[in-house]
Amino acid sequence: MSTFINTLAFAKQLDSQDALQAYRQKFHIPQHNGSDMIYFTGNSLGLQPKTTKAYLDQELLDWATYGVEGHFLAKNPWVSYHEILTDKTAKIVGAKSSEVVMMNQLTVNLHLLMVSFYRPTKQRYKILCEAKAFPSDQYALQSQVKFHGFSLDDAIIEIAPREGEYEVKHEDIYKAIEANKDSLALIMIGGVNYFSGQVFDMKAITEAGHKAGAIVGFDLAHAAGNLKLELHDWNLDFAAWCSYKYLNAGPGSVAGAFVHEKHHENTDLPLFAGWWGHDKAERFKMAKEFNPIKSVERWQMSNAPILSMAAYKASLDMFDEVGMDALNKKSKELTAYLEFVVEEINKQKNNCLEIITPKENRGCQLSIVAHGQGKALFNKLMENGVIPDWREPNVIRCAPVPMYNSFEDVYRFGEILLKLL
Ligand SMILES: *Cc1c(COP(=O)(O)O)cnc(C)c1O
Repeated sequence: MSTFINTLAFAKQLDSQDALQAYRQKFHIPQHNGSDMIYFTGNSLGLQPKTTKAYLDQELLDWATYGVEGHFLAKNPWVSYHEILTDKTAKIVGAKSSEVVMMNQLTVNLHLLMVSFYRPTKQRYKILCEAKAFPSDQYALQSQVKFHGFSLDDAIIEIAPREGEYEVKHEDIYKAIEANKDSLALIMIGGVNYFSGQVFDMKAITEAGHKAGAIVGFDLAHAAGNLKLELHDWNLDFAAWCSYKYLNAGPGSVAGAFVHEKHHENTDLPLFAGWWGHDKAERFKMAKEFNPIKSVERWQMSNAPILSMAAYKASLDMFDEVGMDALNKKSKELTAYLEFVVEEINKQKNNCLEIITPKENRGCQLSIVAHGQGKALFNKLMENGVIPDWREPNVIRCAPVPMYNSFEDVYRFGEILLKLL
């Protein structure tokens, strides 16, 4: 990695050498006083590709032209629309095509997958998760435990960072797995912690979980489109993620689900079924008996939300063009530059900024504690054309995303932050 310099000229030089430089122009960037805002919130809602509108217009046109016949006559027939998303999605998360499907929304998918993969018994009923997981994940886990009649205090094992630390130590996870190896039913962790930006070693945790006889699933909301994933090879049992964060598919867009192929033949797995999980050749025969598809598509319940999938497809085609390798390469450099700029500010401002995201285990997000600051700092950042994300009491989460953020964004962010501190 190059030696960085905290100047606009240097940032512009890095931008001129950036292989993905052209992609920034392919997005709508929110404006502030006539210039681009510094948008570091792609970890919360990715920006809109300029092509999204055309993808949506195509479906609106086909709907207007064909009505219900669009299911078969649309340019991309709706009846099989989700299938055209599969190969490219599989590439993003490192899975086989039969292992991924786009359906529903993230929390819904977590529940549907837990219906099949959290099957507690009197002996094995515990769930191991990270402390302070994203609230929706906590509620999902708690309600699953209660639904099966177990008590929360007993059944949910939360792994927290040690006193005074922000990073969860992997050895603490392995110790907890070992200590509960006779009662552990499920491990469910975020691949990237949404608050600290810490990346977990999904392969090693999965292996440790399996050794203890547990099922292992991950919430990849902050991992999909951010990290290079190898879900199949890492041998995860299941995973789910949303498409509106790093995957730029628009607010509330259709979510992803992964079920490892080793579970596909097992038709005894209980599940909440719907007609879209039924054998495709027979779907319209409207038979009484459910005949499950022998792939992850079995977990689909409803027919596909085409408008949301069209928005996803616009972004997906771009991801496919760029590839996770190129994104990853730029991501590392862009985030390292942000880290450098923050440390430069610290030299002048008495180390008031503390990066709590582990250096060795991170994607593009840096979570920064602004010591001695409050919400006023965040408000001032917004007034100055920066959109970061604020978590009480004083954490700024910044995600310079490689698809559309520039080194100049990072430089300008540092300039504004220094001025405000
Ligand atoms: C963003 C996010 C969610 C949001 O869930 P939805 O069902 O899409 O509303 C859930 N869990 C995690 C870890 C997230 O980052």
